[in-house]
Amino acid sequence: MTKITPGATIGILGGGQLARMLALSSAQLGLKTHIFSPFADDPAFDVSTNRTHADFLDESALNDFANSVDIITYEFENVPARTAQVLESLRPVRPNPKVLALTQDRLIEKQFIRDLGAQTAEFYDVTDITSLKKTVNIIGCPSILKTRRMGYDGKGQAKITDQRDLEKLYMTFNGAACILEGFVNFSKEISVVAARSLDGLFSAYDICENIHENHILSTTLVPATIKDETAQGAIDIARKIAEAADYVGIFAVEIFVVGDHEALIVNEIAPRVHNSGHWTLGGAVTSQFEQHIRAIAGWPLGSTQRLGAKVSMQNLIGKDCEQWKELLSSEASLHLYGKKESRPGRKMGHVTKIHL
Ligand code: AMP
Repeated sequence: MTKITPGATIGILGGGQLARMLALSSAQLGLKTHIFSPFADDPAFDVSTNRTHADFLDESALNDFANSVDIITYEFENVPARTAQVLESLRPVRPNPKVLALTQDRLIEKQFIRDLGAQTAEFYDVTDITSLKKTVNIIGCPSILKTRRMGYDGKGQAKITDQRDLEKLYMTFNGAACILEGFVNFSKEISVVAARSLDGLFSAYDICENIHENHILSTTLVPATIKDETAQGAIDIARKIAEAADYVGIFAVEIFVVGDHEALIVNEIAPRVHNSGHWTLGGAVTSQFEQHIRAIAGWPLGSTQRLGAKVSMQNLIGKDCEQWKELLSSEASLHLYGKKESRPGRKMGHVTKIHL
């Protein structure tokens, strides 16, 4: 199992803000980075040592990229299987690409979670309009139809509130493979951000409480206001997932908390640094970005100790980033991602506040 030393180069697939913050943390640890992204304007290109602007299926570019780095990681889970296969034959890819196959498909992911003994919403495979009608009948309304692949921030999903017009709704999914999920009447959404080292050691941050607006994360509050046993239960689920997937690096588990008894219903796993973990940058001894780099480098994990009684993180979405001047003179610490254009719903930056 390759362990790298300062001066080595980490290849990162994807060039968004997550890759940018991973590159900055790599530099802090004396490591170089090489960003591979199909988008010329990506913000991680500004802060990396080397850059490749090419398609993820360009095998010649993938070969050159792999040969220029020591280990490879990624900032998003929709890395094409062929891309991972080519890279894996040349350099260690961490987290291992098996976890990509697992998290790219909601059906396989939910089955994996359930097989580990954790609870998920009720779910069924939907392959055509007949199976949609049948499963809506079983689960009842409301329920949620989600594409099995490529869904994020509420994209590729629709809430079903009655059994009429299912044909019309299903047409908008263009024949995509889907799952139908029971609607979870949750009281809170939380996430566990945790890491597993190359040597198999596991370490979790304090549980995050997440508030979404228009399906996009708006605010994270840490620690989540849940019972200690609930927090421990969530961390135990994350540990089981990491061990079963032989995971190396940072990952997040998104969980719904239900009822006064605080039942835990797992929604999904993100095999990467996660937006709800941004508070750790300044709000914990080791940020999630540094922790990921330490883990994939084969180094010991850092302390996940929180720095303050409470920490909050607010995303700057779309035009929110125009407040940058006022935010500079607030008590919050400002992070801007350097994106050239702000669009509605686009994550432009975030602010972290430490409440002592
Ligand atoms: P996802 O794309 O699965 O992460 O879903 C995005 C958001 O939609 C979640 O953060 C929830 O707020 C909501 N959501 C997703 N699945 C369900 C569900 N089964 N029941 C209730 N709300 C859900």
